[in-house]
Amino acid sequence: MSGTGYYTHADCRRHEMGEDHPECPERLDAIEDRLIASGLDVALTRMQAPQASLDELELGHERRHIAALRGMSATLAEDQLAGGPRYAVIDPDTSMNTATWDAILRGAGAAMAATDAVIAGELQNAFCAVRPPGHHAMRDKAMGFCFINNVAVAAKYALERHGLKRVAIADFDVHHGNGTEDIVAGDKRILMVSFFQHPFYPYSGEHGSADNMVNIPVPAYTRGMEIREMVEMLWLPRLEAHRPEMVFISAGFDSHREDDMGQLGLVESDYAWITGKLMDVARKHGKGRIVSCLEGGYNLSALGRSVEAHLRVLADV
Ligand SMILES: [Zn+2]
Repeated sequence: MSGTGYYTHADCRRHEMGEDHPECPERLDAIEDRLIASGLDVALTRMQAPQASLDELELGHERRHIAALRGMSATLAEDQLAGGPRYAVIDPDTSMNTATWDAILRGAGAAMAATDAVIAGELQNAFCAVRPPGHHAMRDKAMGFCFINNVAVAAKYALERHGLKRVAIADFDVHHGNGTEDIVAGDKRILMVSFFQHPFYPYSGEHGSADNMVNIPVPAYTRGMEIREMVEMLWLPRLEAHRPEMVFISAGFDSHREDDMGQLGLVESDYAWITGKLMDVARKHGKGRIVSCLEGGYNLSALGRSVEAHLRVLADV
């Protein structure tokens, strides 16, 4: 087994939702810049994200949802030829441009290709630097900058296509991963552990909707040390009991102290600590298999530094 994969694709940069939108292409540039400046890039195995197939997306979503997104993209392209609008608006925060559909396919494709490579032993673990993010995307609904739930689809893919029996999803984004919960709640093969600022967008998750959900709502201004204690007390025993054969991470860095999108107080060392704990779980029960996917993170400097900290632990450098 060798190394940490870094999956991305130029298509993920072409998706954009308008000037001054925080979920912007520059997020990926900030990560790349930081990896180059720190020298960490040479320790990673760079991989091109393939496109997911439509039947793969159906592992986590209703067919009509996938068809609706694809249809909106096609209609938008046609309308633009006739001088129509630049964006197809889904909600006040979420819209498609003509590159969004391809970015969606690359994002989910990255997560599944990374899953393939990690299960095959070609990579020890992998990080998918993709956008749009996924954890608010529900079975039948796009919302909150998200269209297709990359992590939920990849977790189902590991179970259905690779025959794994148990996997875990850990979500450390500042927001509740309501889309992931919608897709995986009640599936006993998947344990989902998360913490998130509450009450806060999307105003859900205070109580997990099924036994396989470990939801930790925390008030604004909760700091990293308190989060670590909760992870230790509430995530780790459940992960230990579940014995996941693979761990997926919804890596949202908007829980950083410097990120104005939310009001949690994590810093780089907290992401490194959480990553290390998840690696311990993965090594003990899952041959070290981890696939991590970018979710939020909107302060570009903090995002770059936090991804570097996360990757340094994954790559053990
Ligand atoms: Zn978020």
